[in-house]
Amino acid sequence: MISVGVDIGGTKALAVRLDGTQVVDESLFSIDRTAGTLDAVIRSIESVLEPAVEAIGVGIAGLVRPTDGTLVWGPHVPGTNIDVRSAVSERFNVPVYVDNDANAAAFAEMNIGAATGYANVLFVTLGTGIGGAVVIDGELYRGGGFAGEWGHVQVDRDGLLCDCGKRGCWETRASGPALIRLATDLVTTNQHSSLARILDASEISGETVIAAADAGDETARALVTEVGRSFGQGLAGLVAIFDPELIVIGGGLGSVGESIVGPARRVLTDALHGGRLRVPPAVQVASLGPSAGAVGAALLAVEEA
Ligand SMILES: [Zn+2]
Repeated sequence: MISVGVDIGGTKALAVRLDGTQVVDESLFSIDRTAGTLDAVIRSIESVLEPAVEAIGVGIAGLVRPTDGTLVWGPHVPGTNIDVRSAVSERFNVPVYVDNDANAAAFAEMNIGAATGYANVLFVTLGTGIGGAVVIDGELYRGGGFAGEWGHVQVDRDGLLCDCGKRGCWETRASGPALIRLATDLVTTNQHSSLARILDASEISGETVIAAADAGDETARALVTEVGRSFGQGLAGLVAIFDPELIVIGGGLGSVGESIVGPARRVLTDALHGGRLRVPPAVQVASLGPSAGAVGAALLAVEEA
């Protein structure tokens, strides 16, 4: 079956067209927030559409009700209570499935990615924020509908203001914007730092700071390690609750791999109660990379269709 999947994040939209489980076309672009979430969804789909498409899946970074395909709200995406499924199915006239982006990515990793063959898995997305999905006994666990939103677990009551409106959420310490904030503070307050010689403030992004760290800049590496450690601290909390066999890390920043995941894994191992008497779960980078969400949305739509 030919299907289309799109993944709408806080800053980027990714669309894929699949033939079966193979990606045959792909398109990535920046989101125009003023045009709204539905505009991003429709433009993404059109960028990879062809007449043979029989199902469309949409993953969105926010609280999504898959039962009626509504985006209720998301801290990083514009709009509330948008009936995405009706709007997209009326426009393209094929079955449409809408879900949270992390659920979609987890579904892809379970079926054709790093989590194949595992029954109890946590999928954690690291990008503009932190999202997640819970797999129990091989099935996505949804709770009342919105399970896995652990980026908004408060880790510091007096911490920084989060995009969700609360303070001190985990994602304020361990996400792309957290890394950008640390790097911007450093290069603006210490112009003699080695990072300030590589990047000026306007060039700072999660990707450029990680690239500087990977190229050997020690100040960049210290910042990436700091964010990775905060990320690992949160993972330890999740392991205390779920004790998964495997944790898969996805999202735009998580997909870059070991620079952030390495420090997180070390903190996780140290922070687990029971110490050396237990084996910490494996922590792996998503094997489908940043396209996991879009691929999973398409696979979910095919399954539903
Ligand atoms: Zn929050």
